[in-house]
This record gives sequence, C-alpha cells and structure tokens, in this order.
Amino acid sequence: MNTLERDVVIIGGGPSGLSAARRLKAAGLSVAVLEARDRVGGRTWTDTIDGALLEIGGQWISPDQTVLAALVAELGLETFERYRAGESVYISPDGTRRTYTGDMFPAGERTEKEMLRLIGLLDELAAETDPAAPWKHPRARELDTISFSSWLRGQSGDEEACNNIGLFVAGGMLTKPAHAFSVLQAVLMAASAGSFSNLVNEDFILDRRVAGGMQQVSERMAADLGDDVVLSNPVRFLRWPGRTAQRTTA
Ligand SMILES: Cc1cc2nc3c(=O)[nH]c(=O)nc-3n(C[C@H](O)[C@H](O)[C@H](O)COP(=O)(O)OP(=O)(O)OC[C@H]3O[C@@H](n4cnc5c(N)ncnc54)[C@H](O)[C@@H]3O)c2cc1C
Repeated sequence: MNTLERDVVIIGGGPSGLSAARRLKAAGLSVAVLEARDRVGGRTWTDTIDGALLEIGGQWISPDQTVLAALVAELGLETFERYRAGESVYISPDGTRRTYTGDMFPAGERTEKEMLRLIGLLDELAAETDPAAPWKHPRARELDTISFSSWLRGQSGDEEACNNIGLFVAGGMLTKPAHAFSVLQAVLMAASAGSFSNLVNEDFILDRRVAGGMQQVSERMAADLGDDVVLSNPVRFLRWPGRTAQRTTA
C-alpha cells in the first residue's frame, strides 16, 4: 500500500475539493486531493464533441456567485455574457410548441397565474431563510422532510404549473427530479440566489460563462496543486485509528 501522509486529505477533485485544498495549502497545511476519475472537475466538464466545445455540466455564473466569480478572475480566466437575442421555445404537456420572449412560459392564463402564485410563496420562504444556515428556519425540519414535488402539489392543483416551477430547481439546477430533494433544499437554492424570482429569471441565473469552459476552473486549481492531486484514485475505505483517518486500498 502506498503511504501518503498529509495534514488534510480531500476526497474528490471537483470544484469544492480543489478550492478547499487551495485554501488549506495557502494557510500552510499539507494537502492531497484523491480523485476517482481520470480528470478533475467533477460535475463541471468541458469536452469537444463533433468539433464543438461543449459544456456537459455546470457552466453558468449568476451575479450572486461572487466567490466563484472572484476565483475565476484570480485564476486568470475571462467570462462572457450569455447570448440573449431571439425567442425561447415552450413545449406544453400536449406537445404544442410555442415561441415566446420574456420570463413567463406561455402556459395559458390560469397556469401562468398559478406559477406566479407559487413563485410568490417560494419568495416568502426564501426571504425567511439564511442561505448560510438554512437549518435555522423555524420550520426547517418540516421543510426538509417533504419533497419539493409533494410540497408543490400541496400548494396547487395545477399540474403544469407545479411541473414548470419544479423544473427550475430540479432539471435546471440540481439535475435530479423534484421528488428527490426537499423543499428546504429548493428554498436554499433560492435564498442563495437572493429570491426564487431570481432563479426563474434567465437573465439573472444564466448570466455569464467562462471563456474556454468552466472545467478550466478546476484544471487551473489542480495545476497549482501539482502532485498533491492524485487522479484515478477512488477512495473506497476509510479507517479511523485514533484521531487520524487512514485511507486503505482494500
Ligand atoms: C448538468 C449540470 C449542470 C449544472 N449547471 C450549473 C451551472 O450552470 N452553474 C452552477 O453554478 N452549477 C451548475 N451545476 C452544479 C455544479 O456542477 C456543482 O455544484 C459542482 O460541480 C459541485 O462541485 P463539487 O466539487 O461539490 O462536486 P462534484 O463536481 O460532483 O465533484 C465531486 C468529485 O468527487 C469525486 N468523488 C466522489 N466520490 C469519490 C471517492 N469516493 N473517491 C474519490 N473521488 C470521489 C467525483 O469523481 C468528482 O470529481 C450543474 C451540474 C450539472 C450536473
């Protein structure tokens, strides 16, 4: 078994693990980042497919992501504004295709009204939630034990409105279905962005991208960390003999 001794060993070479390693190293600690895959970046991944440079994972930077924007600048990367011209396309549940401009899906008067009502309810919850301590919300436990999907359906009988509001956080942000995370998680996303209204505002939430791709944020941090990032190294077992952790290969 190879021995790797460090003050801190971080499991996962995604943006979080690498930025933690970067900060710890700057504070004078020795670190190692163990990454299962043969690349860094985790759920940010920029690849070339059929000659086109594509973002396969995280790519957008919204104005509330000030720490990310500062890191991007510190790493010497440029950002650019999303292409905003033109119309958007809405496909309703019966398959009808409509084009539209502005923020509101052309879902019909009743559903649009219901969507605005749900956005208002979520704005209220987001305003009561501290994004740095969501557990302090007076109803945190209740909100964290009901799925976003069930909560929406408890508020509204309009299935299209529930699906549309659900997808902003589910498909749009957390990339998992709305039954797979709690309403507190959805409210936390909104509180982090300033409000739920911000989450549904494409000009806010889909604001800027990194020239050359978001994965470079991780790649540049990894380059600075050098040999302290070990790829193709899945951590399968941890042992805790006393106050230190040991990672074993079997
Ligand atoms: C399709 C998609 C679109 C997104 N769009 C946006 C966006 O536009 N804007 C935005 O801000 N965010 C977006 N996100 C979210 C963003 O990508 C994540 O928030 C971010 O990548 C989280 O970073 P992380 O380091 O916490 O986790 P991850 O990126 O998931 O990295 C975790 C790393 O840990 C490694 N790992 C896990 N287990 C082990 C183990 N046992 N041993 C070793 N390594 C391990 C994984 O291989 C991975 O590399 C999007 C995500 C997806 C999937």
